[in-house]
Amino acid sequence: MAEDYKPMWQELGLDIEKHDALLEAVGQMYGENFLSQENRPKGMEYFDFVVSEIHGLRIKELVDARKAGRTVIGSFCVYVPEELILAIDGISVGLCAGAEFAFDMAENYVPRNTCSLIKSALGFKLAKVCPYLESSDLVVGENTCDGKKKSHEHWQSIIDNLYVMDLPQVKNDNGRRMLLEEYTRFAAKLEELSGKKIEAGKLQESIAIVNKKRKAMNRIYALRNADPAPISGLDALLISQVFFYDDPVRFTDSVNAIADELEERIKNKQGAAAAGTPRLMVAGCPMAVPNWKLPAIIEDSNAVVVGEELCTGERGHEYLTDENGSSVDEMMGNIVDRYMKIHCAVFTPNTERLEKIRDMHDRYNADGIVLYNLQFCQPYQIESGLIVDDLKKSGIPVLQIDTDYSQEDAGQLQTRVEAFVESMKG
Ligand code: SF4
Ligand code: SF4
Repeated sequence: MAEDYKPMWQELGLDIEKHDALLEAVGQMYGENFLSQENRPKGMEYFDFVVSEIHGLRIKELVDARKAGRTVIGSFCVYVPEELILAIDGISVGLCAGAEFAFDMAENYVPRNTCSLIKSALGFKLAKVCPYLESSDLVVGENTCDGKKKSHEHWQSIIDNLYVMDLPQVKNDNGRRMLLEEYTRFAAKLEELSGKKIEAGKLQESIAIVNKKRKAMNRIYALRNADPAPISGLDALLISQVFFYDDPVRFTDSVNAIADELEERIKNKQGAAAAGTPRLMVAGCPMAVPNWKLPAIIEDSNAVVVGEELCTGERGHEYLTDENGSSVDEMMGNIVDRYMKIHCAVFTPNTERLEKIRDMHDRYNADGIVLYNLQFCQPYQIESGLIVDDLKKSGIPVLQIDTDYSQEDAGQLQTRVEAFVESMKG
């Protein structure tokens, strides 16, 4: 019999009724989008299990870990270095921000024309449905876009464990210096919270653990250039999403097992979609669980997604941190160097992202690119104009989609995606 997690959720202060409604909706979406797929790798069973226990077993692990004296750090952005969190024997978890839930409550704080991600994070807190947030000793809010920066001022009045991390906006020496200062301040906060000092040996071990996780992801992503595509875009996105909250060592083993299986599938010409299916890459804003809307539409339109230039995709895991170094200071420098490479649109200028997108398009053998923006996301929406021009000049087909978390425009999007896919066949 399945374990009854209700007492745990009650203890965490969740609103059980609303939480039941959320879990039911997520379960239904998962069944429709994932379990209905054909020719899935067998290794996806692990991820099916993880999602079925998304607010159950993993939360119990966090609760038990806290009882054993470990510290849980919740965050919303890929600039929060997991290496430092592991170095105090902490646990890093991504926080819920992928569903249209309690937006009416969120809109008491932020305007309607705020991106869905920011409203979702607020909605999950205000409706008391995110056990990850309620299990976090510290919630890290990152000063990235204006929407996030200003929403932190509201978060300050809603929770008492918010830690605001400042981030540079320009990739130069000043920016690097600033990030080093911020990561040093964050490391001190982690030490204070946990009562554990970050030691060089433990930091090096932590860097290696996170690198292994990234390398396993990079293996899967590299295999996606095959035709037929060995894994669907939906399944690959799911793995990228689980990256942010599963136990890192267990996750790495599961991803490597899938990579082994994908290698076999490629040898046997076995695909998630037939050979010759139009191949699309998606670039843009992050897709947090359970935001599966766009890849589901694409893969319902006789195309397959073969790569994601998203934080829940290659942008989130591509670069490794240099593991060499004999002191904490040296390794802090390595960590900063790694995170300064991420091409988020909050940086200006961000021309390297244009090159990155073209490079990924070639590496994944993609036929075209779908630019995905959340409505009211200024950094990505404004940057899109540059990307569209650049791709058109390079002769790469591109479709720009600006949407939100609602299903209202799903039919219209499907029509546009189908027309785009058809145009590539010609
Ligand atoms: S898009 Fe930028 S701000 Fe958003 S999670 Fe990614 S790195 Fe952070
Ligand atoms: S999607 Fe855009 S507006 Fe929303 S939090 Fe991320 S960068 Fe900010």
